[in-house]
Amino acid sequence: MNSLNIFITGGASGIGLGIAQALAADGHHIIVADINQDAATTAARQIEASGGSAQAMAVDVCNVQQVAALADDLADTPVDVLINNAGIQHVSRLEDFPAEKWQQLINIMLVGPALLTQAFLPGMRQRNFGRIVNVGSIHSVIASPYKSAYVAAKHGLLGFAKTVALETGDCDVTINTLCPAYVKTPLVEQQIAAQAKENNLTEEEVVSKIMLEPMPKKQFISVEELADTARFLISHSARNITGQTMILDGGWTAR
Ligand code: NAD
Repeated sequence: MNSLNIFITGGASGIGLGIAQALAADGHHIIVADINQDAATTAARQIEASGGSAQAMAVDVCNVQQVAALADDLADTPVDVLINNAGIQHVSRLEDFPAEKWQQLINIMLVGPALLTQAFLPGMRQRNFGRIVNVGSIHSVIASPYKSAYVAAKHGLLGFAKTVALETGDCDVTINTLCPAYVKTPLVEQQIAAQAKENNLTEEEVVSKIMLEPMPKKQFISVEELADTARFLISHSARNITGQTMILDGGWTAR
């Protein structure tokens, strides 16, 4: 495959960083876009130190003006692949959920991907090639209590992807959503600690009794599995896979 320019939001940590490293190893150029500029710079340097090609950009996916300017800012590095991965979590019963937090989660994980797609789609269309990979979640297809904003944002992402798939049927652009169950990243490590405290359990009990309990496979999903699925979705072989939901959940939703 030709070397592609791949823009990954939240690329400085966890799943985004893992996908960035894997796709860089395939010879692609990675734009590590993250609200945490220092972490993005460190990630890009790590990729370069491993022989890959990368640059860092400080981007807040909720900042309308900043996102709208990205295609011009990257005129010399036209984006072929957009990976909408940035995300955060907040766990609270709805009655206690701060309104600003609810809006922030929707902005980062639903409005952000829409703004970024809007920014890069014209260029993809013009060059008749583009791949958009959203990182959704098992919570794109099922709910858990106390995660109303996260579940709503991640469910919304599927509707968004289906709509854009219909709007891009006339060119070689696809949009799909990866939906993993739990992946051991900083985001989940924080949840393990918080749930242990809240439920008066040890961290091992949170993992076995809460997180992995609904998964027949009883294993965390690895970043490598997600990177391999993304690698397939951006390939020529996946040119007719669009508007789809790729669920990596160890059998959770087979029940
Ligand atoms: P993480 O906390 O390790 O990384 C998230 C990254 O997003 C961080 O680098 C953070 O700085 C960045 N970010 C946050 N807000 C941003 C903003 N406004 N603009 C730009 N960047 C921003 O988390 P992770 O576990 O790697 O999660 C990545 C994605 O995967 C998220 O969308 C998350 O919902 C999804 N996901 C994670 C799991 C899991 O178990 N870890 C499971 C399913 C889905």
